[in-house]
Amino acid sequence: MLSTIGAVSTQHICSNADLHSHSCVSDGTMEPEALAARAKANGVELWALTDHDELAGQARARDAALSLGLPYLTGTEVSVTFAGRVVHIVGLGFDMHNEALREGLHSTRGGRGARAQQMSASLAQVGIKDAYEGALKYVGNPELISRTHFARHLVDSGVCSDIPEVFRRFLTEGKPGFVPHRWAGLGEAVRWITQAGGIAVIAHPARYPFTPTEEYALFTEFKAHGGLAVEVVTGNHSAADVVKYADMALEFSLLASRGSDFHSPTESHTDLGALPDLPGRLTPVWQALQDRVHQP
Ligand code: AMP
Ligand code: MN
Ligand code: MN
Ligand code: MN
Repeated sequence: MLSTIGAVSTQHICSNADLHSHSCVSDGTMEPEALAARAKANGVELWALTDHDELAGQARARDAALSLGLPYLTGTEVSVTFAGRVVHIVGLGFDMHNEALREGLHSTRGGRGARAQQMSASLAQVGIKDAYEGALKYVGNPELISRTHFARHLVDSGVCSDIPEVFRRFLTEGKPGFVPHRWAGLGEAVRWITQAGGIAVIAHPARYPFTPTEEYALFTEFKAHGGLAVEVVTGNHSAADVVKYADMALEFSLLASRGSDFHSPTESHTDLGALPDLPGRLTPVWQALQDRVHQP
């Protein structure tokens, strides 16, 4: 990726990086190998699989990507509790064998089984029986049972007509199937990623229901903990969101990331590699991760 023209060193930076996606190792529907093939077919030039709180798909994703000639960065998406809400922190370019990172993610996902049982009990109270057993049928990794699996079950069993409706009616704060959960601390998540040699990224910032003051606190504390980047272009950001978070990236001197957050061909509205470019005034996070890229 580094080219030298005369005495001037210039970096050729790819534009179609997709650094946020999920396989059936967390709450996506496709195998890591199939995702790699889809990314390659869609023109992705640098890919990261970022399963929630889990690294079990990393070696498979990397090997599949490299065999297709697709450069690969390690990835994960850590669930964090901040100001009483869930925030997602993407980690990129870390050592996938780092013990502290692996242990941290293991402890974070540890509560999911009990939480799922509580969600099921809570849904039973509004007449939806055996939701835990139903959700389990969609789970690829028993440690990673998630709200998404419940949502798939409630759609396929006819309770709701689509996944957004399940979240609206049952799986968000104040709704009958919602069970509050304590995830990792912001500082913990950022430290696990950075101490493993990676870069921490605030995922899809427009999705959090924060007041401007809380959002400012998130960015400020994230930086103070050593976080370096923010996802500016992502599947559920509008054009206005992109402008807003491009400004925030510059204000906080953060690198910018780009990732579809692809989960499934039938559920995700943004396919792998189908995002707009990062605004040119930003520094892509992959520029700072060049020596971490697994090259074919
Ligand atoms: P969990 O980690 O079990 O709390 O599940 C969170 C996952 O649910 C996210 O990673 C998304 O994939 C999905 N999700 C969250 N909110 C929504 C929503 N409003 N509509 C569709 N999917 C959602
Ligand atoms: Mn998800
Ligand atoms: Mn997320
Ligand atoms: Mn995601």
